[in-house]
Amino acid sequence: MVVSIDTNSGFCFGVTRAIQAAESELQKGALCCLGDIVHNGQEVARLELQGLQTIDYDDLRTLPSHSRVLLRAHGEPPATYWIAQQRGIEIIDATCPVVKKLQDRIRACYETHRNDESLPPQIIIYGQPGHAEVIGLQGQTNNTAIVIESVDQLDRIDFSRPIYLFSQTTKSVEGFRALVEKILSVYRNLGIPESRFEYHDTICRSVANRVKELRDFARANDLVIFVGGAKSSNARVLYKNCVEVNPNTIFISSPDEVEDKLSTLNFKLSTLKIGICGATSTPLWLMEQVRDKLSRNP
Ligand code: SF4
Repeated sequence: MVVSIDTNSGFCFGVTRAIQAAESELQKGALCCLGDIVHNGQEVARLELQGLQTIDYDDLRTLPSHSRVLLRAHGEPPATYWIAQQRGIEIIDATCPVVKKLQDRIRACYETHRNDESLPPQIIIYGQPGHAEVIGLQGQTNNTAIVIESVDQLDRIDFSRPIYLFSQTTKSVEGFRALVEKILSVYRNLGIPESRFEYHDTICRSVANRVKELRDFARANDLVIFVGGAKSSNARVLYKNCVEVNPNTIFISSPDEVEDKLSTLNFKLSTLKIGICGATSTPLWLMEQVRDKLSRNP
């Protein structure tokens, strides 16, 4: 059995930056994080052992003043900053700069067009409803933006009104292109000028560029073990890509799941080339634990 870890997998720049901020701020005293700092339970547990306290929105409203709260890479809507200010809470803003820039673009679009009364605009976000980043993006439009996940949901759009399309940073480039093509074809069929449709590919290339390398990695192995958090949108996208090129791909969130998952497959592991990879929220140390577990139980 040959086991290797994909060198392109692991934390992206934004997540690394947020975790470094948490570790450095924990040296100075008590620190809360609004929501899981990363969609990976094991990494959250590691930081909680260092003292990080994960809180939710209800907790934010009842924290004592002068508490310190870190905002994770996904970013937050304006309402969060307002609540913190009202309660005298100190914000440590670890929003990824790429997400911050996207929030600013969406807010600028909303502010520019919100009073176009003759043809009220629609801001569309191609993203996962309820995802933390998407909630932060919707907040820039006073929650008027429509979130759609696929071309099947285009019936929620009023095509007689101008459309401004943006994407959550971790969605797939192919999915975004398919959406743009579909909207353009509806415009053509209805005879609506295409100038009423503005689209912005705001997918983070730190994720998009990984897809090709990951597919190559999955193809080069007999069996692929994808390690990712169950709540991670990026993990779902990348895992799907692995399965497409190598159906012998299994998804696990923890090294403890390896044995059970492998026992359902009819493989003689000792003869296989096994590749371990993960999402932008998967820590390298977790993939190393999976590798070590396999080496101990060939
Ligand atoms: S995937 Fe890109 S936008 Fe999202 S946190 Fe990572 S670097 Fe930032």
